[in-house]
Amino acid sequence: MSTEIEALARANVRALTPYQSARRLGGNGDVWLNANEFPLPVPFELSQQTLNRYPECQPRLVIERYAAYAGLTPEQVLVSRGADEGIELLMRAFCEPGKDAILFCPPTYGMYSVSAETIGIEYRTVPALDNWQLNLPAIAGKLDGVKVVYLCSPNNPTGNLINQDDIRALLDMTAGKALVVADEAYIEFCPAATLAAWLQAYPHLVILRTLSKAFALAGLRCGFTLANKPVIDLLMKVIAPYPLATPVADVAAQALSEAGIALMRQHVAELNANRAWLYEQLPQLPVVEQVFPSETNYILARFTDSPAVFKSLWDRGIILRDQNKNPGLAGCLRISIGTRTECERLIAALQAFSVEQA
Ligand SMILES: *Cc1c(COP(=O)(O)O)cnc(C)c1O
Repeated sequence: MSTEIEALARANVRALTPYQSARRLGGNGDVWLNANEFPLPVPFELSQQTLNRYPECQPRLVIERYAAYAGLTPEQVLVSRGADEGIELLMRAFCEPGKDAILFCPPTYGMYSVSAETIGIEYRTVPALDNWQLNLPAIAGKLDGVKVVYLCSPNNPTGNLINQDDIRALLDMTAGKALVVADEAYIEFCPAATLAAWLQAYPHLVILRTLSKAFALAGLRCGFTLANKPVIDLLMKVIAPYPLATPVADVAAQALSEAGIALMRQHVAELNANRAWLYEQLPQLPVVEQVFPSETNYILARFTDSPAVFKSLWDRGIILRDQNKNPGLAGCLRISIGTRTECERLIAALQAFSVEQA
C-alpha cells in the first residue's frame, strides 16, 4: 500500500488488525473444524424471481417466522447481515465515538473489539474468572462511561454458559445506564438457556442470534437482534436501507419454516451425539491434557504441545482453530463438531500423532 494513501486513512483504521476469520487464515484441508459451521450443506431453491426490485428492508415473512420461533412479537425482531452486523449496529446506535465505551469479558468472541476499533469506540475488558464466569465486582468498577456490555452465552471459544444469576446481577447493575447484549449464536445447542423470555422484564437487554451455526447457513449471512421496540426502533435508524438481498430473505424464510426448524433440530441432535462421542475419545489420548465441557457445537481442549498438534493435523488436512494466543487459553485448540466420519478422522490423526511423539 502506498504510504501517502495510508496516511489519508483514519488513525484507528491504520492501527487496526482485521478479524482473523477462519476463512482468512486459510489452510488446505478437507476436514474443516475451525469455524463452527455445520459440516454439510442444506439444499435450497430460490422461489423469488424479482431481482429487478429492491428488497424489503425487514422482510415480513422472515421477521414473523423468527419471532414465532423465538417466542416473541415481530416488533421485537430485527434481521441483519449476520449477527456480526447486529454487534456493530448496537455500537453505532448507542456509542459516541471518542466518548462512550463498550465492555466485554475475554476470552470471548473477537468481533466485539474489532467492531469497536473500526468505529473508534473505546473497549474495556474484564477477564473472566478461572471458571469463565463473570467477575461482577470488577465489571462494576469499570462501568463508568460504558454504554454496551457484550456477553457471549454459551461463550465462544470456551463453550460454557454464563450463570443466569450473574446475568441478572449485571442487568440490575446496568439498568438505565447501559445495554446488556447476550450473544446467543449457539443457543440452538442448549435452547433452554435462552434469555428471550427476560426481554419482558428488562428494557436494556438485547439478544443476538444467527442462522450461521445450527441452521447450517453461514454462507447466507443472516442474523437477528432481539430486543424491545425502543431498542429496535433505534437500530432501524442506523441499519442500511436494504441490508438483506432478496435471495437471502428467500432462503431464510424457508429455513425458518416448520420443516426447516425440524431439520435444524435433527442436525443439532446429530452433532450433540458426535460431541458426546468426542467426549469419550479425547480424554483417552495422551496428548490431551484437559477437555472443557461445552453446550455448543465445538469443544475446547488443552494439549501438551498444541502448536505441534495443530500443525500435524493441518498437514493431514484437518483444520482446527488455534486459541494459544487467547488470554488464559495457552495450549488450547477449539474443535468444531463435524460429521461422525470427520470426528473419527480427527481422533485417528491424534492417535497417529501420539504414536509419532512416543
Ligand atoms: C459465529 C458467531 C457470530 C457471527 O454470526 P454471523 O451471523 O455469522 O455474523 C456472532 N457471535 C458469535 C459468538 C459467533 O460465534
